[in-house]
Amino acid sequence: MKCGLEIHVQLETDSKLFCDCPTNYQDVPANTNICHVCLNQPGAKPFPTNEKALEGALKIALMLDCKIADDITYFMRKHYNYPDLPSGYQRTSIPIGYEGDLNGVRIREVHMEEDPGQYKPDLGLVDFNRSGIPLIEIVTEPDMNSPEEARAFLRELIRVLDYSGNARGEGSMRADVNISLEGGKRVEIKNMNSIKGAYKALKFEMVRQKNLLKRGVEVTQETRAFLEAQMITVSMRLKEEAEDYRYIPDPDLPPMLAEEEQIDSIKERMPEPPHIKVKRFMKEYNLAEEHAKVITSELELADAFEEIVKQIDAEFAALWMRDELKRVLYYNKMSFADSGITPENMVEFLQMVQKKEVTTKAGQRIIEQMPISSKSPRALAEEMGLVGIVNDDEVLQAAKQAIAENPEAVSDYHEGKKAALNFLVGQVMRLTRGKAEPGNTVQILKELL
Ligand SMILES: [Zn+2]
Repeated sequence: MKCGLEIHVQLETDSKLFCDCPTNYQDVPANTNICHVCLNQPGAKPFPTNEKALEGALKIALMLDCKIADDITYFMRKHYNYPDLPSGYQRTSIPIGYEGDLNGVRIREVHMEEDPGQYKPDLGLVDFNRSGIPLIEIVTEPDMNSPEEARAFLRELIRVLDYSGNARGEGSMRADVNISLEGGKRVEIKNMNSIKGAYKALKFEMVRQKNLLKRGVEVTQETRAFLEAQMITVSMRLKEEAEDYRYIPDPDLPPMLAEEEQIDSIKERMPEPPHIKVKRFMKEYNLAEEHAKVITSELELADAFEEIVKQIDAEFAALWMRDELKRVLYYNKMSFADSGITPENMVEFLQMVQKKEVTTKAGQRIIEQMPISSKSPRALAEEMGLVGIVNDDEVLQAAKQAIAENPEAVSDYHEGKKAALNFLVGQVMRLTRGKAEPGNTVQILKELL
């Protein structure tokens, strides 16, 4: 199987691509963020291209290791008729970046487009709030060989877009995929709006084409739609040729030129792309690939990690950040940036665990409070009465008490029920108020039993 992707994502800007209308199209009543330009009323002239959108597109192209067009670029009109497109054409630029690479998948080109409005037949409504919001389109070569590879690529691409700070991420994504099997023609599937959707569509389409080829039926070149609710693809139309769109350069818009100075300045300010960061973290901090990926899942988390490891052993910090910190953030549906946890907080916390001022178990309870409390980890530990680790004697006393109080668990243990031991460990934790080291406790309990 060969598969290529075309991914559209909205660029993060305050105003639209060719007018001053705001871009918060989902927060306002239908047809309120509109003007004569984005409705394309007769005689309306577009403003020059939004510079922030252009800069965002250039930054994303550079983060995808693209070459930047060194000649002028400009917008074309792509003609088609649909109720969400009052002008009858969509403005789409020629490539701004080309010949890039993301983890071995070649990026054919990156260009800008304007978003059309939204046609909602079920509501009897056409809403033009979205008309003219800047989009970036990223087109890959057909370098992916399975639905899994396509999914991994999309996840990585969304990370790059999130890191750039110039795109709206998976929530605004629309992807088209093209897929062909050996001996078959190329089929395009339109308008998947999540990574999961793209993956399911590819899976379905791969099986459909395989079955046709097996029966000796030809796979026709066509465009299909993915029906997400049913998880199937259906034929939309036979493939259009480029000439059907009657592309012409838009005479109302001035050409654009990315000056070398501008590109250098973007390169200076742009963050290290996540896929490059993963490789560096593996090498520099000796992290396993999976762990490096978790730590770099968010730019702010990765930056915090690099601050923290100036004072804390990298492996130890990585262990707590990827397991416990990520668990707690996930549970609270928070990003690290939103949690208010600072690198200094993490250093203070990790030092307490490292110096055995608190147990591992207590550490887990403290870190759970860190995103919801504004107190320092030490203040939290004191407030929760978790400072200190009890000595072996106290653990021994607590273990004896736990055994004496729970004869049923003891006999379950002797019958080979593993859960009984965990129960007794829990009792010791309760009696020592979480200040016994679990490893130690298990050891002492086993000896007594
Ligand atoms: Zn407007």
